[in-house]
Amino acid sequence: MPELPEVERIRQSLSPGVLGKRVVGATLHRRDVLVVPGDPAGGFSRQRSGASKPRRYEARRLLVGTTVVDVKRLGKELAIVGETGGEGVAGRSVLLVRLGMTGQLVLLGSGARASKRDHIHATLRLEGGGRLLFRDPRRFGGLRAFENLESLSEHWSGLGPDALGVTGPVLRERLGGSARAIKAALLDQRVIAGVGNIYADEALFESGIAPGRAAGSLSEGEASALASAIRAILARAIEAGGSSIRDYLDAGGVAGTAQRLHRVYGRGGLACERCGGELAQILLAQRTTVFCPACQR
Ligand SMILES: [Zn+2]
Repeated sequence: MPELPEVERIRQSLSPGVLGKRVVGATLHRRDVLVVPGDPAGGFSRQRSGASKPRRYEARRLLVGTTVVDVKRLGKELAIVGETGGEGVAGRSVLLVRLGMTGQLVLLGSGARASKRDHIHATLRLEGGGRLLFRDPRRFGGLRAFENLESLSEHWSGLGPDALGVTGPVLRERLGGSARAIKAALLDQRVIAGVGNIYADEALFESGIAPGRAAGSLSEGEASALASAIRAILARAIEAGGSSIRDYLDAGGVAGTAQRLHRVYGRGGLACERCGGELAQILLAQRTTVFCPACQR
């Protein structure tokens, strides 16, 4: 599942190919992957829309007629910002991309063919013949259209601060006096945005904090250690191209190697690198959680 580092790599690999390009056409292959203003709360029902026939739908919502001027990210969400021309009356449209479990953005040059052609739910055609595909086999991800940057900001105000810049005092304030497990709090995107199962386990191991500790029980020192572990681990993972577990690839189809840096994720029952004891694997907040009972308190 893409977390902050993978989404940031997608942003970085996508930007050079789309910035300054005009979107000249779009096709939505499944209506239910796109939420537009006016759709029912929670989005278009997936039950009611099993139709998988290609259809064109509200091209403007898919940025047709705009020039891509920015690709933003907050946590695990990407936002492609398009600008309409017009003298002095430039408008902005935003297409938010959530990758969910298996979502991919695939940027193809003119004439290039997608290596995997199934589960492509939306296609944006760029001037010059390039295409941007949204592919998502399990469909936990999706697209959401906003009419302007203000609506995007409003939506993003529901998320916590981006984990890549989180500090100890901010983290401690966001955790408040919460009695729930620190691991569960880290996974809650309203607390901080961008951390998922992999990097939560890695950051808790690095900072020596047990995943089941009450979030509100962290001392100032522990909150600072955890925040700095989160920042360092995310930055290292971005540097390594993200973690390619299952099907993550960046927008250019390149896999990452950050999975080689993992010290606890996926290593339940193996020896702790630090003390040699056995790493425990439990279910916490419905997610597999790996930690060292000796090194993490
Ligand atoms: Zn240990």
